[in-house]
Amino acid sequence: MGKTFAEKVLAKKAGLAEVEPGQIVTARPDLGMSHDNTAAIVQLFRKVGLKRVKEPGKFVVILDHVVPAASVEYAQNHKDIREFVREQGIRFYDVGRGVCHQVVVEEGLARPGDLILGADSHTPTYGALGAFSAGIGRSEMAALWATGELWLKVPTSFRIELEGELPELVTAKDVILYLIGKLGADGALYRSVEFAGPTVEGMGIPDRMVMANMAAEMGAKNAFVAPDETTFAYLADRTKDAFTPIYPDPDAAYEEVMRFDVGDLEPQVACPPDVDHVVPISQVAGKKVDQVVLGTCTNGRIEDLRLAAEVMAGRPVADGVRMIVLPASQEVWLQAAEEGLLAEFVAAGALVLNPGCGPCLGAHQGILAPGEVCLATSNRNFKGRMGSPEAELYLGSPAVAAAVAVTGKITDPRSLQ
Ligand code: SF4
Repeated sequence: MGKTFAEKVLAKKAGLAEVEPGQIVTARPDLGMSHDNTAAIVQLFRKVGLKRVKEPGKFVVILDHVVPAASVEYAQNHKDIREFVREQGIRFYDVGRGVCHQVVVEEGLARPGDLILGADSHTPTYGALGAFSAGIGRSEMAALWATGELWLKVPTSFRIELEGELPELVTAKDVILYLIGKLGADGALYRSVEFAGPTVEGMGIPDRMVMANMAAEMGAKNAFVAPDETTFAYLADRTKDAFTPIYPDPDAAYEEVMRFDVGDLEPQVACPPDVDHVVPISQVAGKKVDQVVLGTCTNGRIEDLRLAAEVMAGRPVADGVRMIVLPASQEVWLQAAEEGLLAEFVAAGALVLNPGCGPCLGAHQGILAPGEVCLATSNRNFKGRMGSPEAELYLGSPAVAAAVAVTGKITDPRSLQ
């Protein structure tokens, strides 16, 4: 019987001929990523008497969560991080460069066949480029700094095959929300999820990133899209480093193979307070909204901003609605400025923020008051995620966010055409 992607990549990174699901292996990742939480990891690292990161060239630190610092405590954390990366010689991106997952991809640090571990739950994003990438805890990152290796349990694998051409204004975000609704928030718990089929093959890297990013919201350990010409063309502009793609065997043993036709999919919305409470938009249409957030590591790319501007089509943001736009990176920000998109958003009455996580984690830059309702393009909507536990957070695509912004209520973007 053949091997899945996860089995093949973990065998390679553990220096073994082959591995089985459930096996614990000691693997050597190609990259370790952390963000503002690096300050807490440094404390753990020092607490056990460790002084030097063993292979500093294999790590990257990106400040993105609360940037610029919103309090003295955050400012101190950032200061400590800057000193640590300087002292250790770790690659570093300071405030303003962008959301960690976007920056890793833009900088060509995620390549097919790589093993990447990140101290962030949406690290599976890099599976869009054919890497095995997974989130780890802070103490695990401290151990990785110290040794350059980490124990991992080989996951079983799901293969999700998608077919059907997506209708106009129905996007990868709608597809992944639909799948999360079908499988449930723990439906792929500790599974390696391989996305395949003509619909996925037809997606560009940004859409594949949306799928892989939100696989975390069905509990996946990692996600994977087989690298192809689309991947190689994207990477040609991003990295000169050699890489070796790894593909699942045609006769790989999956725990489950699922097939979905998304050719008739309606825009989808995840309703509070659960990411798997997903409904077709027609079921929640008309719900009044106070705030719209367009951005984050899920949907803050240039393609998302273009789509939102297209749906808004010069209409102003509705009275009483606050629209927050936060490009996922400096590169996206500059591109959006060059294309006139940021000016369009501002002219419509939106607020354009610096690149970063913004209000996504409920720490600053647009947190919600009790009783307020928000529609965001982000990936989590549990109670309190974006501020008050008494606020309501709906999740949708950039097209949906744009339609909501100009109407002030949950609206199918297709109805504005
Ligand atoms: Fe996490 Fe949101 Fe930042 Fe993404 S944008 S890394 S989900 S806080």
